[in-house]
Amino acid sequence: MANPAVRGEHAPDHEVIIIGGGFSGIGAAIKLDEIGMRDYLLVEQGDGIGGAWHFNTYPGVAVDIPSLSYSFSFERNPEWSRVFAPGKELKAYAEHCVDKYGLRSRIRLNTGIRAARFDDASSLWHLTTEAGETLTARFVIGATGVLTQPKLPDIPGIASFRGTTMHTARWDHGVDLRGKRVAIIGTGASALQVIPEIAPEVAHLTVFQRTPIWVLPKPDAAIPGAVQQVMKRLPWLQLPARLASQAFVETTFVLAAHYYRQLRIVKAFEPVALKHLENQVRDPVTRAKLTPRYGLGCKRPSVSNTYLKTFNRDNVALVTEGITGIVPEGVRTADGVLHAIDILICATGFKVFESGNMPPFQVTGSQGRDLESWWDAERYQAYEGVSMPGFPNFFLILGPNGYNGASYFQLIEQQVRHITRCLKQARTRKARRVEVTREANDRYFRDMKARSGSQVFFNNGCASANSYYFDKHGDVPFRPATSLEAHWRSMTFDLNDYVYR
Ligand SMILES: Cc1cc2nc3c(=O)[nH]c(=O)nc-3n(C[C@H](O)[C@H](O)[C@H](O)COP(=O)(O)OP(=O)(O)OC[C@H]3O[C@@H](n4cnc5c(N)ncnc54)[C@H](O)[C@@H]3O)c2cc1C
Repeated sequence: MANPAVRGEHAPDHEVIIIGGGFSGIGAAIKLDEIGMRDYLLVEQGDGIGGAWHFNTYPGVAVDIPSLSYSFSFERNPEWSRVFAPGKELKAYAEHCVDKYGLRSRIRLNTGIRAARFDDASSLWHLTTEAGETLTARFVIGATGVLTQPKLPDIPGIASFRGTTMHTARWDHGVDLRGKRVAIIGTGASALQVIPEIAPEVAHLTVFQRTPIWVLPKPDAAIPGAVQQVMKRLPWLQLPARLASQAFVETTFVLAAHYYRQLRIVKAFEPVALKHLENQVRDPVTRAKLTPRYGLGCKRPSVSNTYLKTFNRDNVALVTEGITGIVPEGVRTADGVLHAIDILICATGFKVFESGNMPPFQVTGSQGRDLESWWDAERYQAYEGVSMPGFPNFFLILGPNGYNGASYFQLIEQQVRHITRCLKQARTRKARRVEVTREANDRYFRDMKARSGSQVFFNNGCASANSYYFDKHGDVPFRPATSLEAHWRSMTFDLNDYVYR
């Protein structure tokens, strides 16, 4: 039922609609219940919850930061089987959270949102689903993720390939790779996990690489059952382990990226990665091809103890010639060679900072303002990564300048804390409309830009990295701040940075 404070002539279908059933949406739903806002609906376009972990089921899929950091702080999981848990455990953890916190009855699957329009007269959002239905809500939380929409390579002739084509994020488990000639395009974070898994099965694997990835040794290990039992019985023991893991992630991702000029942490890791490459790959020509020519940190690096040495196998070839086209028989490269294959795997990542992704539906704010056009004109920006002036009652989880490189869970909790503080304030003031001020937004944006000068992205030879971190404006819309600062800000930002009417 809608909050009585906002009932009346324009009672919406729901007080809040959360769009997206990944961990951001799940985290938002749990915290809305916690503040007593129970009239919400979570809509998810897919046929299951878990977001990235529902859709990414390719062989070898796993987290690439330690699992101890990759869970909600209020729902720690003593049952991770490894330091870097496999994807199916994350999917199971999502289901566990949904059941334990009683969310399932308020989740609607197979419900994609195509457009959202704010009605100034009623201060309500009108959401149009893919099926053409209209849902209304006082508040909208966009939790549609960033690495969500698979991107196929823009190569001429790709549709003409007569074998099977699949993207890593939509793995077809009905396709048997055994004994087949397989090609994989891309050598990013997903490719690095899938390549060592499938190489032993296939007749031949051709890996097409545009830009080599920086690979560090993976400090992974199975977590013995006895340790899991101890963690279960003494849950407080998980806390120091989690803190140690967070400190590791903070140092190697957050401080290394955003305080590059001051700390130069990255420079200590580059030789480690190069030594790892030397230890793992026998052939010097292949090794040279796998050596990044841009600085560590310019694009997402990863960890693996098996990826690099897969290139020692006789049935694996690394091709660095540019792809000129795809024909029915396979892939043609710039040297004129036709690489005949049966199966083509695109490990080509996702739409990231580009139009139509964040969020992936049309958003029309107050007085007809279009979100995408506003960002196109004024660069990606959102106050604390959450809200934009001109878009009342609309919040994003990890919008522009929200993500700092730490574990997503930590960041989701911060962003949701920001949102629930606003919603509680709106309730206290009996407000039907909550909107961040232009002044607060501009202040935050200026601060983000001023800090970006210290980031690794602008100081470590990133021009040749082909990094998806850079948007079309040349910005990297991350949050150059420590996790502690982001946490503190979410608790203390001035509630008067919003106008309540
Ligand atoms: C393979 C892979 C490995 C990763 N590993 C790590 C890691 O180790 N550590 C880390 O911190 N991060 C990792 N990430 C990043 C990961 O995206 C986040 O950690 C986290 O899962 C994001 O959660 P989310 O809910 O914000 O987004 P998502 O999990 O992407 O969920 C968004 C959901 O919104 C839905 N949706 C989108 N558009 C609509 C619409 N119009 N209408 C309705 N529903 C919609 C989608 O279907 C999806 O279910 C990884 C990502 C991938 C893809």
